[in-house]
Amino acid sequence: MGYLKQFPNKEGYFGDFGGAFLPPQLVPHFKEIGEAYERIAVDSSFIAELRYIREHFQGRPTPVQHAKNLSEKMGGAQIYLKREDLNHSGAHKLNHCMGEALLAKFMGKKKLIAETGAGQHGVALATAAAYFGMECEIHMGEVDIAKEHPNVIRMKLLGAEVVPVSFGGKTLKEAVDSAFMAYLEQADEAIYAIGSVVGPHPFPKMVRDFQSVVGFEARDQFQAMTGLDPDHVVACVGGGSNAMGLFSGFLDNEDVKLYGVEPHGKGSELGQHAATITYGHPGEIHGFKCLVLTDDKGEPAPVHSIASGLDYPGVGPEHSYLHTIGKVNYGSASDEETLKAFYALSKYEGIIPALESSHAVAYAMKMAPAHPGESILVNLSGRGDKDIDYVTENFGFGEDFSL
Ligand SMILES: *Cc1c(COP(=O)(O)O)cnc(C)c1O
Repeated sequence: MGYLKQFPNKEGYFGDFGGAFLPPQLVPHFKEIGEAYERIAVDSSFIAELRYIREHFQGRPTPVQHAKNLSEKMGGAQIYLKREDLNHSGAHKLNHCMGEALLAKFMGKKKLIAETGAGQHGVALATAAAYFGMECEIHMGEVDIAKEHPNVIRMKLLGAEVVPVSFGGKTLKEAVDSAFMAYLEQADEAIYAIGSVVGPHPFPKMVRDFQSVVGFEARDQFQAMTGLDPDHVVACVGGGSNAMGLFSGFLDNEDVKLYGVEPHGKGSELGQHAATITYGHPGEIHGFKCLVLTDDKGEPAPVHSIASGLDYPGVGPEHSYLHTIGKVNYGSASDEETLKAFYALSKYEGIIPALESSHAVAYAMKMAPAHPGESILVNLSGRGDKDIDYVTENFGFGEDFSL
């Protein structure tokens, strides 16, 4: 039996990680979602509609590009990019948001509820809601609302209601609590849509399955281009959805080495990075077991990354498991290495990448010189339009980051 069919088990465990630790009132609702998903995932009308959406709305398949100029510049391995930045709305997130919204439609729900940090998940979900003519309620901390103005505007244009969260630190953690409470009150007509391979079962499995299209496409495209499988496959890891998507195409192939790249931020001290797998310990966060970065009181630690989509003190349970069994190698890229990759891909390939994705590119650039004659396939999870003001205001046009 293939890896994807074996994991997770019925209770949502990947080895010791995963599960669902919920307030009692939410247990029946998550059970309802899990059962509906198992039924619908093999339903031919669901599969056909998702395929139609992938092709005619999202613009899939996204291409695989041979980054010839960058490869030549680095000397060594040939670097290839899976262009999820060309997926509609500019990143891989729409792959699972369209899946979750379609599930909601099949369950007869009228509304999508979620939290968002920097706003990327909120925009993708609002996009899905608009497509299906559903209501959408996005909970967002007031601090993030002030910081991420363009994404707030996008969500509103797409017809979503943005609910400001004004308690506690007014950021992602409080937004999660607020969204959970709102869901509890509206669970009959609404579905909660998680933004990565995190959260209580069945979300890590469902989101992975919806993202697996990335890996299945990339495997066939790479074969068609080169007649071979890639030697190395690289993706950045925040919660871990774009990485699980790409890895899904290669987990049963023992010859392909897999790498997850975490943000090493400004350094190895707690609070300076968000390298959860590198420095974390088994624990529980937001209703599931995974590796967690904790402070000396055992609470989720403050985290930092130049890429706001990667700064989470937990990580998907499946990544925690794949690390423990040694199936995937987890490394990291610092803010500085990431900026170097951001400028290099812009200048040498004509692609302005998201800062999240730039972590994966940075890792491939570090690897390339040591692997001449081999190939590295990188998930370019999103485009960098959202990051250009921040990057140029703080670091100029890359004079200090040339190769
Ligand atoms: C949100 C985001 C990520 C991080 O999420 P994962 O679940 O780890 O994939 C990575 N890249 C981009 C472009 C994003 O928007």
